[in-house]
Amino acid sequence: MTDFSNATLNWDEHGQPHSSQFDDVYFSRASGLEETRYVFLQHNQLAERFAALKEHALFRIGETGFGTGLNFLCAWQCFVAQAPANARLHFFSVEKYPLSLDDLQRALSLWPELAELSAALIQQYRGLQRGFQTLHFAGGRVTLTLLLGDVLELLPTLNGSVDAWFLDGFAPAKNPQMWQPELFAALARTSHAGTTLATFTCAGFVRRGLEAEGFALQKVSGFGHKREMLAGHYTKNQARSAAMPWYAQPATPPQGHALVVGAGLSGCATANALARRGWKVTVLERHSDYAQEASGNRQGITYLKLSPYMTQQTQLVLSGFGYTRRLLEQLPRGNDGAWDNCGVLILESGGDNTERQQALANAFPNLLQMVSKQQASELAGVDIPSGGLWLANGGWVNPRALCKYLLNHPNIRVELNADVTSVLHADQQWQVCTGDGRQFSSPVLVLANAAEAGRLSVTAHMPHKAIRGQVTHVPATPASSALRTVLCGSGYIAPAWQGMHNIGASFVFAFEDLQPTAAEHASNLEILNELSPALHDQLKPDPVAELEARVGIRCSAPDYLPLVGPVAEPEAFCQRYAKLREDAFARLEQPCPWQAGLYINTGHGSRGLITAPLSGELLAAHICAETMPVPTALMHACHPNRFLQRDLVKRRR
Ligand code: SAM
Repeated sequence: MTDFSNATLNWDEHGQPHSSQFDDVYFSRASGLEETRYVFLQHNQLAERFAALKEHALFRIGETGFGTGLNFLCAWQCFVAQAPANARLHFFSVEKYPLSLDDLQRALSLWPELAELSAALIQQYRGLQRGFQTLHFAGGRVTLTLLLGDVLELLPTLNGSVDAWFLDGFAPAKNPQMWQPELFAALARTSHAGTTLATFTCAGFVRRGLEAEGFALQKVSGFGHKREMLAGHYTKNQARSAAMPWYAQPATPPQGHALVVGAGLSGCATANALARRGWKVTVLERHSDYAQEASGNRQGITYLKLSPYMTQQTQLVLSGFGYTRRLLEQLPRGNDGAWDNCGVLILESGGDNTERQQALANAFPNLLQMVSKQQASELAGVDIPSGGLWLANGGWVNPRALCKYLLNHPNIRVELNADVTSVLHADQQWQVCTGDGRQFSSPVLVLANAAEAGRLSVTAHMPHKAIRGQVTHVPATPASSALRTVLCGSGYIAPAWQGMHNIGASFVFAFEDLQPTAAEHASNLEILNELSPALHDQLKPDPVAELEARVGIRCSAPDYLPLVGPVAEPEAFCQRYAKLREDAFARLEQPCPWQAGLYINTGHGSRGLITAPLSGELLAAHICAETMPVPTALMHACHPNRFLQRDLVKRRR
């Protein structure tokens, strides 16, 4: 992965942005708006195609070079004017040097006509890190996935195709590194017969390169002083045989109704993602209220467990953190609200050593800064014994409030006290029975019930670990209320919220009792002592035994990535792909034996705040066979079938 840095701009006398990295303009000085409409909208026939969309249809646009977002906003404006009210637009745009928020604001102020859409983009333009970053607008009608990094690196990782290409990016003469055969190949790979393409350039090598990949192009009159441009469409009908059929899309269930089991963060996020797509969703929750288990803690921490390398974990955390961070913008903030991005101090004394912290700060300079002991104490508002890493954009969230927000959609109905005891597939319907004798049925069933999924026969083969966690609640004192940031080490303490500090959390394996223990209170207070002896002295409660607590069971997969996707039938899988036992790279083409309409979204461990909201979106993309909001390899890394495949390769099955 390349480094992530912002665009460096100069502004001309008319207030127009000019790239100093590429020595080129972002848009026509004559009229950027008119140029976008002419080159990209008109030559992809977008107004007509939007108007012809069917109910609930999805239209996908891909772009090279997001820049100021002008093309995106114009496409969005045209979509709202032309498309049916329940159709959706998903815009994928690759950008190596995203504008800073200030520059974006300044550039977009040039277009008063787009002010309303610009304001929405500006509000969501945060939490952006390298990799895939998904932003929602207009109640989910319009989605933007930014692929932040080099186009040659990221476009090949896009899983799925688009219906129209905006081939932007600076002029080939100014930006020869981008206009490469690899780009043309990646555009072809993510196109289908009928995908259209338009670009402002008519350079001969661009035309020849695209034609060699299967695009039919025409030279047409360019905009303003530009004589010519290129427009056309992709001509091939690609047979996409999946190299690994266990990661291919199952047949799409008919759009309609889904049952989601579990009203924790992952169930609520899945329900919301489907509801935004026009599905009716019934959420079945065994407790008398939502968010009663691992998502029921008073304050969850938006702490990021990262590696300096772009591992799958790290990519998921970066994409998930941005996704959650933008979602939180919709909720009230602060002591009377549901979250605060007060920052998180990740202290050295808590276990992470300086060398490792420095490597992380070097790898993610936009996200993490090294701070001294004195700086840490100033940031925290209390005395801190060591320096550490400062995650300015992190903080705490009340997960229950986030669940409430996600469930608040007219397409979602929640059935409480609905303890699912059996599920059965018959007549293309999932029949679900609850302990009190209620029955529900639907062609689509999503299990978002953490470790409980392991107790249902259809998902009993999914591996998971249950890890108990106890959070200690300590009443705030006037002195402890000075704490302004979250402190993290081997555990955490959050600033006082509604008169209480939350300190946690223990990690106890193979013990699923929900009663608080004095030993775990003591270990939480020991963590507090490590983080800040001063705070510990202010808060040290006596007697410890009378402290309040909350115990939850986290559910993790053995590789600590969540399980998100369709579920296969394990016995048939092992028979069909038995060759994997002899040859891990065997080329197998038989379709995967899916349990039709069965999906899972579990295994978020202690990072549900970061991974569950994005996973809800990922799962909805699986169910609706959409172009994925994460790179192909990450989609595979979270796919439930990974364990069956690994078990066969390692001859454990
Ligand atoms: N579509 C933009 C708009 O609506 O404002 C204008 C795009 S601007 C002319 C070109 C963009 O391409 C710049 O933002 C630039 O950073 C980006 N870009 C150039 N080379 C790139 C590469 N190799 N990978 C990804 N983005 C690149």
